[in-house]
Amino acid sequence: MDKNQLLREIPSIDRLLQRSETKVLIKKASFDLVTHILRSIIGEYRNLVLKQQDPELTPLTEEKVIGMLIKQISQFIEMNLKQVINGTGTVLHTNLGRAFFSEEMKEDFFKILSNYSNLEMDLTTGKRGSRYSHLVEKIKFLTGAEDALVVNNNAAAVLLVLSSIAKGKEVIVSRGELVEIGGAFRIPDVMEQSGATLVDVGTTNKTHLRDYEENIRDETGALLKVHTSNYKIVGFTKDVSLEELVNLSKAKNLPVIEDLGSGVLIDLEKYGLAHEPTVQESVKSGADIITFSGDKLLGGPQAGIIIGKKKWIDKMKNNPLTRAFRIDKMTVSSLEMILSYYLQEDSIMSKIPSLEMLTINYKTLEIKAKNLKDLIEKKCGDSVIITTQEDYSKVGGGSLPLEKLKTEIVVIDFQNKAISAVEKQLREARIPIIPRIHKDSMILDPRTIKERDFAYIASTLKDTLIDK
Ligand SMILES: *Cc1c(COP(=O)(O)O)cnc(C)c1O
Repeated sequence: MDKNQLLREIPSIDRLLQRSETKVLIKKASFDLVTHILRSIIGEYRNLVLKQQDPELTPLTEEKVIGMLIKQISQFIEMNLKQVINGTGTVLHTNLGRAFFSEEMKEDFFKILSNYSNLEMDLTTGKRGSRYSHLVEKIKFLTGAEDALVVNNNAAAVLLVLSSIAKGKEVIVSRGELVEIGGAFRIPDVMEQSGATLVDVGTTNKTHLRDYEENIRDETGALLKVHTSNYKIVGFTKDVSLEELVNLSKAKNLPVIEDLGSGVLIDLEKYGLAHEPTVQESVKSGADIITFSGDKLLGGPQAGIIIGKKKWIDKMKNNPLTRAFRIDKMTVSSLEMILSYYLQEDSIMSKIPSLEMLTINYKTLEIKAKNLKDLIEKKCGDSVIITTQEDYSKVGGGSLPLEKLKTEIVVIDFQNKAISAVEKQLREARIPIIPRIHKDSMILDPRTIKERDFAYIASTLKDTLIDK
């Protein structure tokens, strides 16, 4: 059809607003939302016509617009952030929200959020209290540190520490530790924002104690050690241990800051994983200030935990950035719950899902994989070829980059349908399912999938195979 004719036939917004279906929607949502979406539908159609790429383009009838309007309004109102099923096996998957909470927390957590709380009231004196007071004693006990402060995330923690301690001064860091962490957190950039000057010493693969020593001068404000948590330099390497740095700093009367990144509180070696330096070890080594994330190996909410010597923490409390980075009651309450689980060691694995998934044994994974495979096979029949095999899962979240966690995966090949089409449909399902794709096969790693989601996965997979 002729372009001008198509444009002429576009229904007017005024007419559409008069229709009974539209009036119902205006009552349910609002006049503004309905007109906003009508304009966008009509604008998009107009662009299509003007581009003239589709010769099959038919006139936009009022009925078509109303159909789209109903669908788009409900999509717009519906929560866009939703639960997904992580089939990738990567436990601390940054794009999928890193650590999540156990069902166990639901009741206590919601009670805080749906009521007033003593967030900033000291109930023994009735006077104003600190929101950090709920966390500080538990963090001190668990880590052995003198004092603690919690901010929005670890990036904010590093920025606050540098700004409070080394603004206008030089901070010495090894060249091998100038890391970039996902989401554009780069040590040199953070340093610049803080007002401290970066002095990088040594080389990418080797830094010696003398490299730090030779660069200390009157302008030096601190020594910084960054845990290179998302990569490893292997081969001909040398770095300076935290202990060595602490000894040097004592002689020179300078603070040592350690950005630990992940921050584990329990020794994962006991559970068969590689040794990741624990927070307690860093405290014992004598670092003055240590920072780590709340939602990496700790398994809690997004947060940046700062621990260390009281005199430095006091300095940070007076920095206006502390207020700008302050955590809200959702973080205070969920982090306090997580910390209280760490105080009850016997049940910790079952209460912190990321720890449970990281330490689940291979035998259990074999059984889970077989159950998932059987369910899918039963539902999908001949349209899939499905096997299980040994493979590896990742820790994720920039933690333990080389650690390969032995797992048993379910490998699915499709007989009559392109894998990309299946993947897209799974991603757009009611509860989206995110698999791993490897060499044109679809992989589901049971490590990160809850058993109770298996039936849903099988039936959703079947649905994607039915419609052409
Ligand atoms: C992850 C990480 C950060 C950033 O932490 P967020 O909590 O994501 O802000 C900073 N430094 C190191 C070494 C990290 O591993």
